[in-house]
Amino acid sequence: MSRRITVGRFLGVEVALDWSWIITFVLAAWTLVSLGARVMPNLGPLPLALLAVASAAGLFTSLVLHELAHGLAARASGVPVRHMTLFLLGGITDRERTPGSPRVEIACAIAAPLASVALGVLAILAVAIADGPMPRGFDDLDRLGAPGVVVLFVGLANFVIAAVNLLPAYPLDGGRVVRALFWGATGDVERATRWSAWLAQVIGWLLVVVGISFAFSTRGPGTAAAMWTAFVGWFIASAAAQGYEGVRIQDALAGVTASRLMRRAFVAIPADLTVDSAMRSFFAQGESRAIPVVDGEDLLGMVSFADVQELSADRWRSTRVREIAVRPEKMVSPRTPVVDLIDTLERVPVVEGVRLVGVLDRDDVMRFIEAFEMRSSREAAVRT
Ligand SMILES: [Zn+2]
Repeated sequence: MSRRITVGRFLGVEVALDWSWIITFVLAAWTLVSLGARVMPNLGPLPLALLAVASAAGLFTSLVLHELAHGLAARASGVPVRHMTLFLLGGITDRERTPGSPRVEIACAIAAPLASVALGVLAILAVAIADGPMPRGFDDLDRLGAPGVVVLFVGLANFVIAAVNLLPAYPLDGGRVVRALFWGATGDVERATRWSAWLAQVIGWLLVVVGISFAFSTRGPGTAAAMWTAFVGWFIASAAAQGYEGVRIQDALAGVTASRLMRRAFVAIPADLTVDSAMRSFFAQGESRAIPVVDGEDLLGMVSFADVQELSADRWRSTRVREIAVRPEKMVSPRTPVVDLIDTLERVPVVEGVRLVGVLDRDDVMRFIEAFEMRSSREAAVRT
């Protein structure tokens, strides 16, 4: 199952949410409701809920703008961007390849925290112009009114987004800068990635420990801050582990299309064969994956051993394979980038129009990634 929910396209970039973002939304709304109840005790529950949702939406917009800043910076330095996924307090912008140099990497990483700081300053200025001097404490917030409080919250949230993303924890922006520095120093992007992912996991788990101890200490900054700290730590630690894995795969598969890794010599079952013959010629040797079914060269569907088993054995002689072929869950064209398929890939037919031209197997892709890594570590060994 995919962990991403696509929400739309902005400036030609597909924006998706990771499930972890639901935690951000709930936590932000909850923080706002508890804060709002304290600051504006006269507000009813419905306006309070509206206030919380408006602020969470503001937080979401801020994150999208942060990621768009990365995307635009990457594009400006010649690295194409296809989609981005928003996580807890940041995002991952998928670029079609790793920036060509540490310097470009640093520029792309720094652009977004700068944008967040600028947004934060704008929001604070807007509140200052509309409502006079900044409130000096919680008791003073009432003066701003609900819209003022939302804008102030979103402004402050942008500073938090910039600060969190500048932590030296890869794949956050600060961590990307650290990786670029390691990379510049060693000339080995793979080793730099490994080191910075390791550093990020240490920082992440430290934050989790700090957050939990906040929650149990009587003089701590309160439950909301404790939970935010622990969640940010957990997010960083898991993103570092995933990010390293993702970078390995992305590096290996950058620019690789289905046509390059698909098998051109593949097994396919003619549609008019009886299920009985197909069973004997194709599944008797223990093939457990689905096999494409073709009418001439055209793909009709896929059929697996499990599909055959669903049909009672006394009908095998009278049934043709085309009758039990199922529509494949996924079909791709030879030009589809393999990196887009990696999450769902098992065995995918590759079609040109309706004509079956190849079969892409997960095993082949994994072997390609391993071979790529062996080659690049050998090249690195030769260089040093
Ligand atoms: Zn960022």
